[in-house]
Amino acid sequence: MGYRVSLIPGDGIGPEVTNAARRVAEATGVSIEWETVEAGEPAIKAHGTPLPDSVLDSIRKNRLALKGPITTPIGSGFRSVNVALRQQLDLFASVRPARAIAGEGTRYPETNLIVVREATEGLYAGVEHWVDRDHTAAETVNIVTRKASDRIIRFAFELARREHRRQVTAVHKANIMKTTGGLFQTAFREMAAKYPDIPSDERLIDNMCMQLAKKPEEYDVIVTTNLFGDILSDLCAGLAGGLGVAPGALYGDSIAVFEPVHGSAPKYAGQDRADPVAEILCVELLLRHVGEREAADRIFRAVWETIAEKKVVTYDLALPGYTQRPVTPSTCSAMAKEIARKVPEVDLDRPLPRPRAVAAGPIDPALEA
Ligand code: NAD
Repeated sequence: MGYRVSLIPGDGIGPEVTNAARRVAEATGVSIEWETVEAGEPAIKAHGTPLPDSVLDSIRKNRLALKGPITTPIGSGFRSVNVALRQQLDLFASVRPARAIAGEGTRYPETNLIVVREATEGLYAGVEHWVDRDHTAAETVNIVTRKASDRIIRFAFELARREHRRQVTAVHKANIMKTTGGLFQTAFREMAAKYPDIPSDERLIDNMCMQLAKKPEEYDVIVTTNLFGDILSDLCAGLAGGLGVAPGALYGDSIAVFEPVHGSAPKYAGQDRADPVAEILCVELLLRHVGEREAADRIFRAVWETIAEKKVVTYDLALPGYTQRPVTPSTCSAMAKEIARKVPEVDLDRPLPRPRAVAAGPIDPALEA
């Protein structure tokens, strides 16, 4: 059976990492027809807008998309294409698994968390304005509705049940934001009562950050509002090995869009240096979503073995201080080629070794964002 998937290369490192992901997808043998549509900088050049209707039409038609990162101007300029896409397609659930791969690039080799983030409202609703004419005061409105809170919390419990996860933790700031945080908290408590088989608890966002930095193994599925989810998913990506290896998925009622947690990394654009793993693992999530389990398992295994072998890895996985065995960094395309080569060969019956902790060492300043 073949699949038709909208492909949005995006901008910055997007075209490089989506090319890499396509190459690995092809190696699985699953028949995918890619429908390429441009958003971000190439779309501004071609169509005068960063999000042409053709992108939304293609995703609505195919109901499956693989997306590269898209640059958003900071502080001014057009609104985020990424946020607009989520809102216009009602992609309400942003799901970001943070799995340590082969224990490389992480001090927490057993990290296995999933951040479930509400993606259509909260502080990202786009309701903001200057309060005075001189622009000395500004206001952003935090919109939290019962409908969207119920929807995302139900999604998190269903995911936990389907994937046999241990527990669901709600993250909010209901002690300070008593209305928006309080609403989310109430919605969580009432929904948790409907899932008595799944243990649940709550954390305030500040405490959650500290807990995750100290003992991430105590958490499993985390469900939260838009801004907190954005921040926590980067934090969890860091725990699991870095932005270069963190995939993500956006789900609506009938549409699924897969995109990495990382952004367009403009400083590496066009250099064939970016880590392709996050985008490649987006293909893994896509194949899992459509029921192509073996192909998905093959991709994960091939990524794991390539990272564990450390012969052909990009700069972020090859730096001293990040690994026990520093190696010469390879290009994005070479790493993708190596993963694609392994996909049909990996032995899925052999259990994955238990990941080892990497000795703490100096962090290379090149990795500081
Ligand atoms: P970023 O994720 O692009 O970069 C953060 C750091 O991680 C940088 O040092 C970068 O070089 C490094 N990095 C990121 N991805 C990497 C990869 N695949 N391989 C190796 N190193 C990698 O975040 P940023 O600098 O805050 O944002 C850059 C742009 O991306 C902004 O315009 C932002 O709005 C946009 N962005 C888009 C998305 C998206 O499309 N979903 C997500 C986040 C940020």
